[in-house]
Amino acid sequence: MSKIISAFLLSTIIITQPTFAQKNTKQDILLANIDKTVKPSEDFFLYANGGWIKRTPIPAAESGWGIGNLVQDDIYNKLKKINETAVKTKATKGSTTQKIGSFWRSGMNVKAIEKAGLTPLAVDLNKIDAITSADDVINVGSEFQTKGIGCLFVTYVAQDDKNSEEIAVQFAQGGLGLPNRDYYFNTDERTLKVKAAYKKYLLKTFINLRNATPQKDVEDLFALETAMANASRKLADLRDPYKNYNKMSMAQLNALAPNINWSLHTKIAGTNKVDSVIVGQPEFYTTLSSLLKNTAISVWKNYLKIKLVYASAPYLDTKTFNDRFEYRKTLTGASAPQVRWKRVLDSEEDAIGEALGQLFVKEYFNQTAKKRYDDIVENIRDAYKERITKLSWMGDDTKLKAYEKLASISKKVGFPDKWKDFSSLEVNDGPWVLNVQKANAWWHNYETNKLGKPVDRTEWSMTPQTYNAYYNPSNNEIVLPAGIFAVPGFKDAELDDALVYGYAAASTIGHEITHGFDDQGRQYDAKGNLTDWWSAKDGEEFSARAKMIIKQFNEFIPVDTLHINGEATQGENIADLGGILLGIDAFKKTEAYKQNKNIAGFTQMQRYFLGYALGWMYATRNETLANRVMTDVHSPAKERVNGPFVNVPEFYDAFGIKKGDKMYREENLRVNIW
Ligand SMILES: [Zn+2]
Repeated sequence: MSKIISAFLLSTIIITQPTFAQKNTKQDILLANIDKTVKPSEDFFLYANGGWIKRTPIPAAESGWGIGNLVQDDIYNKLKKINETAVKTKATKGSTTQKIGSFWRSGMNVKAIEKAGLTPLAVDLNKIDAITSADDVINVGSEFQTKGIGCLFVTYVAQDDKNSEEIAVQFAQGGLGLPNRDYYFNTDERTLKVKAAYKKYLLKTFINLRNATPQKDVEDLFALETAMANASRKLADLRDPYKNYNKMSMAQLNALAPNINWSLHTKIAGTNKVDSVIVGQPEFYTTLSSLLKNTAISVWKNYLKIKLVYASAPYLDTKTFNDRFEYRKTLTGASAPQVRWKRVLDSEEDAIGEALGQLFVKEYFNQTAKKRYDDIVENIRDAYKERITKLSWMGDDTKLKAYEKLASISKKVGFPDKWKDFSSLEVNDGPWVLNVQKANAWWHNYETNKLGKPVDRTEWSMTPQTYNAYYNPSNNEIVLPAGIFAVPGFKDAELDDALVYGYAAASTIGHEITHGFDDQGRQYDAKGNLTDWWSAKDGEEFSARAKMIIKQFNEFIPVDTLHINGEATQGENIADLGGILLGIDAFKKTEAYKQNKNIAGFTQMQRYFLGYALGWMYATRNETLANRVMTDVHSPAKERVNGPFVNVPEFYDAFGIKKGDKMYREENLRVNIW
């Protein structure tokens, strides 16, 4: 919930347990996952992962299932043990152990949660009932925002894009009920189904809240949200960091959106001591301001009620939970709810994840693995420098700046040196939903307290137990949590270099470093400031190459008739391709590659590509695929393998790809950026 600004998340890597039981010897994992009925030249993703996908059903509670879930399951079990130990410990009030134990008890106490129904929300619902003016809407809505109940718009505190030494108050579009603006306007069958399920959810909720005219209330609310959606930018239009950066004084903000009482809002948010703010999408605020004036207060009250109940439903009684779940099914395809203990861990992770992480690494993180991946980061950095040197399309002046930026990228591997201090956060045995609200308020204060203070560049925006990684352009850093090094079923030392260079060096480390030089990252300099360090000609050369990757990915159709949004996903696709090329260069310098021994019948380079594909071994439900294509800046798993591979010469050699094969692209259509 701490907001990561322009962090380009990816999920990646790691190994699976062979799902068939092996008594004494482990079968080679790459060999075990292959589908021999598919040719690598036809569909490499299915060739590499199809065997595993065929024999592994997606669990009912999941929207998809794959390598990341297997790793996450292992992390869940480790965290469960930590929680169960905390519950049994007689802990001092206020200690981390007490907080973990109390959080767990509040979430697992089914009886109390069922009995309470909506009563934990009574105080908030009463505040909504008392609203009589637009200022009241801002008053209650702003307080909800501080408690993690998203509504009206999005505001947060983060480094100023143009001055990474300074923390700024930022405003972005938001406040919709459906996942994004396209859901209000697209007319394909699947979107219409999602829309209908959402309206059904609104109706059920208004009936539960005893509204007198629930059907009319649904239509009014939907009209309000549609007007907000109409003023919201599309996914691809959020990419340009300049167009989404509008610094203005408070007076200018007041002129932009005069019906929003900004002094009231900033006072409640704790952001009232600044003289300027950064607005991402000004036109959204102008529209919101008119809507505030021209929409009946009763509609705004219903809007806030829905926001409150929807955000709280995961922590409330079965009826409230299920109403939301029925709608969510159309977005995920999961047919059963997630088990309670995993849901408790998810919310605990958001609340006090770093406190859990501290215990997690103490028990489970291995220094030898840390060293292995620390070294790989440096090998990838060296490989990148060599690649830049060889680039024919980039001029010498730009190259010098690129070297400087590359050398300045800092790395965070495993876990933070300094842990967050949760001593001022109070956690008790329940209700669960109020523990969540209090934790959100704690985080809100934690973030706003950064205003006017020097930037702490040692901070982590992910917990160590997270199965993910990110590049943060304002700090020019890559962050690789310990979670991505967890290997269920295999010890790190059991994994050969070819495999590790494919799935870790390429798909995580090379990927994240390339984000520093993708369509967005390249616009930030070595110090993390949004500034143009490119010569005009080199900038044009880059954009021409990026256009080719946009076109290439636009052609993929992962589900129904939905094409990948090549423009919105270009940064991730550039990072995938860059990561694979850097991984190859670094791998070629290893002893393993030079000795060139076959393992399980594969050459070293074949294992490299199979290792990369293993990082994307997922089966995904169609509902989730459609949702991702519309809202996610990452391409689906299959295209994250097949998409970049068609551009890589070593891939053609390793698997004998020939003209006429599906994985073949004419040389002039292959993308070549880094
Ligand atoms: Zn990424």
